Amino acid sequence: MSPICDRLEAVRERIRAAEARFGRPEGSVRLLAVSKTKPAQAVREAFQCGQHAFGENYAQELAEKAEALAGLDLEWHYIGPLQSNKTRLVAAHAHWMHSLDREKIARRLAAQRPDGLPPLQVCLQVNVSAEPQKAGVLPGELPALAEAVAGIEGLSLRGLMTLPARSDDFDSQRRAFARLRQCLEDLQARGFTGLDTLSMGMTGDLEAAIAEGATLVRVGTAIFGPRD
Ligand SMILES: *Cc1c(COP(=O)(O)O)cnc(C)c1O
Repeated sequence: MSPICDRLEAVRERIRAAEARFGRPEGSVRLLAVSKTKPAQAVREAFQCGQHAFGENYAQELAEKAEALAGLDLEWHYIGPLQSNKTRLVAAHAHWMHSLDREKIARRLAAQRPDGLPPLQVCLQVNVSAEPQKAGVLPGELPALAEAVAGIEGLSLRGLMTLPARSDDFDSQRRAFARLRQCLEDLQARGFTGLDTLSMGMTGDLEAAIAEGATLVRVGTAIFGPRD
């Protein structure tokens, strides 16, 4: 087995253990393998070990890998910051977009989605730690953005995503993720009943995210090794 298979299996085991420990149903947390900066060959290896969903941070890199691996049944998730001059690449290649935080980008993605593709599945990125300079909307800005995005044909609003301030402390990791869960519950209470996705947790904090209700964790380093 390739080292990627071994590491994937170890991450799956971490997810299963966290599901059991925090009372989450088995299989309720999806694994997104974050392949940014890694070659297409690494994606192919992970696919051969049963991994289906991959995350990319750079639009050009997403397009290149999606084209190079077009023969495989892969699901591509865009998770990085997106400039309006790169929306076309994401609209053409991604199945999911996690980092939506502006209505203008949402409108461009919908307008540029090629005919025949299913709606782009989207999550709104929330700056739960209210860090200046950080991508994502503040919790108070969410209802207005959700309202706008939910009305755009060609997009399907699925939930929320966050990338909290880095912390090695389990309880503070949990507090940040609990804020995202609260944001989702607030939107559900406002009538956004179709939202089912909490995209949160990475290599260093996926257990805390699962404890707080993550439905999808985005893991790079633990699967593909450190990035340059
Ligand atoms: C790079 C990245 C990840 C994966 O981080 P690791 O610590 O390598 O698991 C997850 N989410 C986003 C948004 C990222 O940019």
